[in-house]
Amino acid sequence: MKIHIDIDCFFVSAARIIEPYLEGKPVAIGGRSDTKIFASHAKNQTVSFVNSGSFVPTFYKAYEKKDDDIEAFQDEDGRLRGILTTSSYEARAYGVKTAMSIKEALRLCPELIIKAPNMTFYQELSHKLHQFLSLKIPLVEQASIDEFYGDLSGWIEDEEIPSFITSLRDEIHKELHLPVSIGAAPTRYIAKLATTYAKPFGCKTITLDNFDRFVNPIRVEKFSGIGKKMQHKLSQARIFTLGELRKHRDLLESWGSYAAELYKRVNGEADTPIKTIHKRKSIGISRTFDPIYSRDEIKRRVHILARHLSFAIFKLKVIPTVFHLSIHYEMNQKSHKNISLAESFTEQKFDALCLRMFFEADIHKRLHVIRLSIYCSSFTRDSKKELSLIGFAEEEKMRILTDSTQNLRSKYGIGIIKFASEL
Ligand SMILES: [Mg+2]
Repeated sequence: MKIHIDIDCFFVSAARIIEPYLEGKPVAIGGRSDTKIFASHAKNQTVSFVNSGSFVPTFYKAYEKKDDDIEAFQDEDGRLRGILTTSSYEARAYGVKTAMSIKEALRLCPELIIKAPNMTFYQELSHKLHQFLSLKIPLVEQASIDEFYGDLSGWIEDEEIPSFITSLRDEIHKELHLPVSIGAAPTRYIAKLATTYAKPFGCKTITLDNFDRFVNPIRVEKFSGIGKKMQHKLSQARIFTLGELRKHRDLLESWGSYAAELYKRVNGEADTPIKTIHKRKSIGISRTFDPIYSRDEIKRRVHILARHLSFAIFKLKVIPTVFHLSIHYEMNQKSHKNISLAESFTEQKFDALCLRMFFEADIHKRLHVIRLSIYCSSFTRDSKKELSLIGFAEEEKMRILTDSTQNLRSKYGIGIIKFASEL
């Protein structure tokens, strides 16, 4: 049997660990594109790289002082910006949903408490849960920041699974103060479906005995992998429930390989083994801003992005060897530059490289710039084996400096140390 573990309204549950009085209240976590890192007074910035290397500000000060972080979502003119990334079940009862604008959510639920995200803390909790699960289950795969799959085959007898997952859920709650829901089923896809129906703070086991009874009445759009487009196609074929879908194997197979695979997943035939190692392939940072013409200001922003990304790269303990910078101009013009460099990584070198890529990529010098992105990929982990040894001693010195920089930044924010080129 496979199990699927999902933290209930994760970001809200995390906020409740720091501020227990949020328990039982309608709470939501806001999110917005963060351009505050460019502010000359940017402080308390930190970095997280859960999915794509997005950078989120933390608001520790706000946590200390106030119940609500609403001012974090107001722009300079006092307009409320941003959308919700998570909401508590108490908030959902008012119709508050993920991706809803903060404004709209407050209209539906005026007493809603809006909290700022704290990606560093989420990352920490997610890591702790991953470690905890790895102690309890032989094979654990992390699917996202708050979702895990586990394989219990040969580990727990099938008939003991309901009691095993219930006590696992209770242990996680006791040890990590996180509410989770757990689904168990013969395949990972059905286990995930079971979790959806176990929420909040529930457990559900699907066996061959109750498979049809559980799966058949569920509406097709509830199945992970059935998007708007597929749902529309199914509805035109008068297929609205998974049970109806299961009666149309030939039809789905005629729609191509994706639909054929979907059929098998719904029918409990398709499964994918639990993968324990998830290797990151790239990391990047990008920001969209109001159009800027001044190349000096844009260069300053390239330095800032380089500094933030460099911090993340050191945190990941990887050495990227392919670098990519792209510029989006007004009037829908784009330009980019790639550089491959198999040398050890230092922030100064990276900073100079980003600037060089910017100069080479900036081919529309008369246009305003609206977006900058920097990505790094093709990681290697062993500098001695794969990298050029030229200048290695010099770089070792640089690395010692980097280590102390990294420590200071972890403590006081990325803005605490800047290179002269940026000032
Ligand atoms: Mg979740």
